[in-house]
Amino acid sequence: MDFDYDLFVIGGGSGGVRAARVSSQAGAKVGLAEEYRMGGTCVIRGCVPKKLMVYASQFSELLEDAKGYGWSVGETSFDWTKFMSVKNPEIDRLEGIYRKNLGGAGVEIFDHRATVTGAHEVTLADGTTYTTKHILVATGGWPFVPDVPGAQHAITSNEILSLAAQPMRVLVVGGGYIASEFACILNGMGSKVTQFYRGVQILRGFDGDVQNHVAEEMRKKGVDLRVSTDVAKIEKTPVGLVVTDTTGGTLVVDQVLYATGRTPNSANLGLEALGVAMRDNGAIEVDKWSQTNIPSIFAVGDVTDRVALTPVAIREGQAFAETIFKSNRMAADHTVIPTAVFTQPEIGTVGMSQEEAEASGHDVEIYRTTFRGMYHIIAERDEKMLMKLIVDKTSRVVLGVHIVGHSAGEMIQMVGIAVKMGATKEQFDATVAVHPTAAEELVTMKEPVKEAGA
Ligand code: FAD
Ligand code: NDP
Repeated sequence: MDFDYDLFVIGGGSGGVRAARVSSQAGAKVGLAEEYRMGGTCVIRGCVPKKLMVYASQFSELLEDAKGYGWSVGETSFDWTKFMSVKNPEIDRLEGIYRKNLGGAGVEIFDHRATVTGAHEVTLADGTTYTTKHILVATGGWPFVPDVPGAQHAITSNEILSLAAQPMRVLVVGGGYIASEFACILNGMGSKVTQFYRGVQILRGFDGDVQNHVAEEMRKKGVDLRVSTDVAKIEKTPVGLVVTDTTGGTLVVDQVLYATGRTPNSANLGLEALGVAMRDNGAIEVDKWSQTNIPSIFAVGDVTDRVALTPVAIREGQAFAETIFKSNRMAADHTVIPTAVFTQPEIGTVGMSQEEAEASGHDVEIYRTTFRGMYHIIAERDEKMLMKLIVDKTSRVVLGVHIVGHSAGEMIQMVGIAVKMGATKEQFDATVAVHPTAAEELVTMKEPVKEAGA
């Protein structure tokens, strides 16, 4: 049977764009539908605008620190509108590059919502229908907001990235990546930030020392972090949003930012009717080749809820294209993924946490140091850095590295290579330190703070 396309991709985000471009370059006839803006969450409503906001928010401390080094710094202030006026064109520019690269690779772009109307058929919002040998669903995720009274008055990460005015009093709800990052961003920009987290400590799943260290440093910088606290109701009043919390307290803010997780974007795509298997949370079930139970339909990225990170979606998209169109059967590797959380201070982590290593039966040695970096001493800033290595006592393999502090994200990319290669503690130690840096601590921690079995 002749199809209109070899591949039709639904979603122009990190995973879909990579799969479409590589497949097209390999000679496939590829169509791609995007209902909003090319580049997807990462470029338009995620990593990129978020990181620009992180940069913008860090100047408040840098300007203060400069005084410690002899600079005279006059009156400073942050202009949200001015920042948005430079941030938005940068996002437009990047979107243009994505569009140009796809077009240049021969991908036909449809600026429409698409649904799956058959195992080999997609239908666009304008009613046009196309047949295709393969369908790749790469529709990402969407912010989840719990059903609390007044939740309609709250915003999510989608809106905070382009609000017309800076909210000067903000409640951030959640304790994950997005909540913790935005609590720090808004705090750095001068807003008064309260953060509610329902559990006992933010950043659940990260190494316990990392969780505690970041929470303490965030509080020192001014974030009013309240754990074991959630929203009971939100009321809109003339003085602002009045939030009643689960401990009975009230708070008046200009905005409530919900960052309580993301739901896979799989509803109303036509998948249920075709019998595509999905988990309870809507994640499309795929095998390691990203294939669903309907052989012609594949899915990559956040919609599969494996690891919701851009480089992972990209790798899944690449592996799909290699397997289907380049005769190079490849599965994305989801093990030992380095990641950064752009809190202030920043987190860089790769491999197992102490808790995970111990729970999985490893006899571990823990190397840990906390110290005030050289930069912070003269700046008179009370901020400490944390570095921690989890080592398997028997094999000597470094199972995990956890860093909190300036440039932790940059460091973890590098040290992630060693951990991925299975380097041992002795190989870390055999590497000469780079001096004077903070990173040198990674190769100079000599004595374990916890002996295996202790
Ligand atoms: P997406 O990038 O979400 O793309 C899906 C696309 O599909 C969207 O453009 C959507 O409009 C489109 N679409 C949906 N349904 C349809 C349809 N029916 N028809 C046509 N088009 C459709 N990850 C990191 O690695 N580092 C970070 O620093 C980071 N920061 C983040 C910050 C925020 C605020 C958020 C929300 C996420 C962040 N992430 C980060 C996660 C990262 O953005 C996602 O993991 C990544 O974008 C997933 O890519 P994807 O291709 O699966 O989906
Ligand atoms: P996360 O899953 O990281 O965090 C969700 C948070 O919301 C958790 O603290 C969770 O609490 C809490 N929560 C969930 N449901 C409720 C509820 N009903 N009421 C109150 N609190 C609730 O999701 P995010 O939205 O922060 O981010 C989504 C994903 O995007 C991340 O997991 C990450 O993969 C990716 N991302 C990556 C970034 C990066 O690489 N720097 C930055 C931003 C996002 P609990 O812990 O108790 O379940």
